[in-house]
Amino acid sequence: MSSARIETVVVDGLALANQIRDELAHAIARHRAAGRGAPTLGVVLVGDDPASASYIKGKRRACESIGMDSVERRLPASAGERAVLAVVEELNRDPAVDGILVQLPLPKDVRPNTVAEAIDPAKDVDGLHPLNAGRLLLGEPGLRPCTPLGILEVLTRHDVALEGAHAVVIGRSSIVGKPVALLLQQVHATVTMCHSRTRNLAELCRLADVLVAAVGVPRLVKREWVKPGAAVIDVGVCEVDGALIGDVDTEGMLGHASLVTPHRRGVGPMTITMLLRNTLAAYEARRPA
Ligand code: NAP
Repeated sequence: MSSARIETVVVDGLALANQIRDELAHAIARHRAAGRGAPTLGVVLVGDDPASASYIKGKRRACESIGMDSVERRLPASAGERAVLAVVEELNRDPAVDGILVQLPLPKDVRPNTVAEAIDPAKDVDGLHPLNAGRLLLGEPGLRPCTPLGILEVLTRHDVALEGAHAVVIGRSSIVGKPVALLLQQVHATVTMCHSRTRNLAELCRLADVLVAAVGVPRLVKREWVKPGAAVIDVGVCEVDGALIGDVDTEGMLGHASLVTPHRRGVGPMTITMLLRNTLAAYEARRPA
């Protein structure tokens, strides 16, 4: 039996990110016109990992593109945890800094959770401080992790019905899987969380109206795993023989899923954009008009 071909929306995450950045740029221009200073993101880079250096360059450019200021603090890989915490403390105290981002991964002797806990929760634009994680769990206002926020934004701006929908999330990390599951639940989806020990993963995925793959296993999600008409979000990024591959077989989704995010120009640009939005939100909360 052949099923009807479905028109699949391939999300242009870059175009959507640019649209949201325009909205943020207008808001910042209004603040500037009212004589208030620009929102400022403080970025901390420890070590000289080229990928991390390239990410923070991208973040600096993203700030510039919307009229947001940024400051950078660079430390050598040998700096040690105490020095990293001292820089975080300095940025916490600086009234001109609205958001703080410590670029991951950190050297082995610097504990990421200790650093996340040192950031002032009001400036925690990555949404990883336990206070913000707790607020998310309780459904209280707070800064949310950027990739999950970006995923919700993709779904809602494409009018994907979430209330009452069955969402299946593969992956249970604190950065993506758990917070996106909570955000989906808050908009009244029924959420199933899967991970490496889940039995019958393909079967569970086939029940999903919305499927989020945040795993890091190349092309794990195949066409046969997806219900016709489901919306599929590919978060995974893996390097295979020098090429970046996602968790989803994007080609296999065409004519089958109602929506798919490609692994390039999909969720990635939305993550940085949500960092900018969080920084603006932190600024507006800290420096009310
Ligand atoms: P992570 O901390 O490594 O978590 C991966 C999750 O996938 C874990 O919960 C793991 O289960 C689960 N898993 C691993 N293999 C599995 C399998 N075969 N079947 C089912 N579940 C499996 O990774 P993360 O930080 O959440 O990131 C996930 C992926 O998204 C990575 O590829 C990362 O590079 C990418 N990412 C992209 C963006 C973006 O902006 N595009 C942002 C963040 C992350 P267990 O808990 O049982 O180990």
